[in-house]
Amino acid sequence: MPLSEEQKIRYARQLISQEIGEKGQEKLLKSKILQIGAGGLGSPCSMYLVAAGIGELTIVDNDILELSNLQRQILYDDSSLNRVKVEVAKERLNDMNSDTQIIIKKMYVDDKSIDELIKGKDYIVDCSDNAKTKFLVNDAALRNNVKCTIAGVKDFYGQIMTINPKKSACYRCVFFGEPEKLTIKEEPLPVIGVTPGVLGTLEALEVIKSILNIGETLENNLLMVNLLNMSFDKIPVQRHEKCICSK
Ligand SMILES: [Zn+2]
Repeated sequence: MPLSEEQKIRYARQLISQEIGEKGQEKLLKSKILQIGAGGLGSPCSMYLVAAGIGELTIVDNDILELSNLQRQILYDDSSLNRVKVEVAKERLNDMNSDTQIIIKKMYVDDKSIDELIKGKDYIVDCSDNAKTKFLVNDAALRNNVKCTIAGVKDFYGQIMTINPKKSACYRCVFFGEPEKLTIKEEPLPVIGVTPGVLGTLEALEVIKSILNIGETLENNLLMVNLLNMSFDKIPVQRHEKCICSK
């Protein structure tokens, strides 16, 4: 569908970008994204995706907003306390840009539900706060042949990679170990709000660039971010021949 007059104004700065233009904007408006998590990473990721004019964003999260979340989860404010996060997120994101259809699911994802959620989607972005979910998103992306981006943060440090099934290394190629044995009850990690701010924003960027097929995304690369000494290191990673992604 051609852009409306209002859309031509709203997205004017993207339309004059040589990398995006009207064709690119139309692609963004048609894209359907699945985002797992609506916390520290999920807040900026969803806000930038919606502001950029993503067509449909499905957000999955089971949490209620607590006071200790507000230091980094910038979708929310004091009036959101004790409310279901995805419900507040939907209100906030609808207010930002009505071009994006926001679908919310208050639930935890598991092996079965994620396959249902992924149907018809163009991309999965992991904004969860635990390793178990990151492996689950990775495996579902491979199974369903849908690209995904996974990020993690701790304190002033973060890492992010993008997985292109059958073509690039996956999360398991890089992070070995059995997620089943990882502790279910994870201790709260230290984190300065800016860290998920930076990494969640980079996740939105990976989604947008992948949808538009422009530039270089973090396929076969792990970006290690150290915000204490301000280093961004792109580490090449390889598909592991014994990994599930090579079968
Ligand atoms: Zn792999």
